[in-house]
Amino acid sequence: MANNRILLKISGEMLCETGGFGIDPAHVQDLAQQIQSGLEQGDIQLAMVCGGGNFLRGSQIAGDEIGRITGDNMGMLATIMNALAIQSALERLGVETRVLSAIPVNDLAEPFIRRRALRHLEKKRVVLLAGGTGNPYFTTDTTAALRALQIRAAVLAKGTKVDGVYSDDPETNPDAELYDELSFLDVLQKRLKIMDSTAVSLCMDNSLPINVFNMKNHGNVIKFLAGERLGTMVT
Ligand code: UDP
Repeated sequence: MANNRILLKISGEMLCETGGFGIDPAHVQDLAQQIQSGLEQGDIQLAMVCGGGNFLRGSQIAGDEIGRITGDNMGMLATIMNALAIQSALERLGVETRVLSAIPVNDLAEPFIRRRALRHLEKKRVVLLAGGTGNPYFTTDTTAALRALQIRAAVLAKGTKVDGVYSDDPETNPDAELYDELSFLDVLQKRLKIMDSTAVSLCMDNSLPINVFNMKNHGNVIKFLAGERLGTMVT
């Protein structure tokens, strides 16, 4: 295993204002600039999974008119749009990237083939893993856990809008305690919502550490990629 290999999971919401919709080019540019500087400072192989919640989530749109599976398919397509936006912004800055999609969109992205992903990573290309798992009823958190295991990443990093894992929701409870380190069992027993339970179970069963850190703090992506210890480590 290359121990400098990281899978960074970001929510689609990182590409727009918190609670906003769609893609704000300024947010994408800022993210790309931070990734570029971070990669210059650290020696890491970076794969990324971006969610699609800035466009839609299957479970939210599902109803009488649009079924859950169609909604999930639409959500997975949204992740491809996000990956293409990040790719474009990174390549403008001279960072080599490849988009690998679980859903075939051959004119836009390569198919996800594990060995190909590894080859790109070894060549220091940022690998954007799009299209979710390619299956409905999953999330991009689970995609990130699965792909991190497939590429043998040393850690699954989740960039969020809070500083790490708290004992309670820090947005509603000002006394919520921020954890520096936690075990998977703590996460499950205390029902801490860091990722959906499928993703957490996959990581726990395969001893893949999760690092939750704040991505809305400007500069944190650079620090993280440069090797600084941020947020909460779940092991
Ligand atoms: N999705 C899916 N299968 C997957 C990954 C994602 O069906 O393997 C769909 C699902 O509808 C999900 C949407 O894509 O709600 C967007 O992903 P997610 O909600 O994880 O995005 P985020 O909240 O991280 O932006």
